[in-house]
Amino acid sequence: MLERVYALEELPRLQDLLATPEGELQARFAFAKASSGRASATVSVRAVPQLLCQRCLQGFAFPVSGGSEVEFTDEDLAAASDGKRELFRAEAGRVSLRELAEEELLLALPIAAACSIPERCPHAPRFAADAQAPESAGASESGEMRRPFRELRDLLKKT
Ligand SMILES: [Zn+2]
Repeated sequence: MLERVYALEELPRLQDLLATPEGELQARFAFAKASSGRASATVSVRAVPQLLCQRCLQGFAFPVSGGSEVEFTDEDLAAASDGKRELFRAEAGRVSLRELAEEELLLALPIAAACSIPERCPHAPRFAADAQAPESAGASESGEMRRPFRELRDLLKKT
């Protein structure tokens, strides 16, 4: 089990959604070997970002938690996907935990965040809490690189 804390301002894909960059992302990673033979991780994330309300354009705190089990692959995601599991790209056996945590946070956030504060936000209907952003296949360029465990590279070569 690994635990990491990232400043929200270090997460580039999150920036468009934030009213202010304050806050932290807490992430936990439990590594294992999936039945497919791939290395996998159960990821859980927690944060209270200041999101930008899409109706009144003001910031509001949005407590969010999420996570899922992902399998790592160094193949092209489209080619490797069996349609059953969430796959995350490992470059030469290395995984960016920061990008993985960012991905899980993005998946947990509503597509159109709205604050539902009646005094300032007109017609505040309830937004869907189960909204899910489409999976992104963005390749990793930078970020904190970690080798989750030594066997990952070997596991990936066999698959
Ligand atoms: Zn609002």
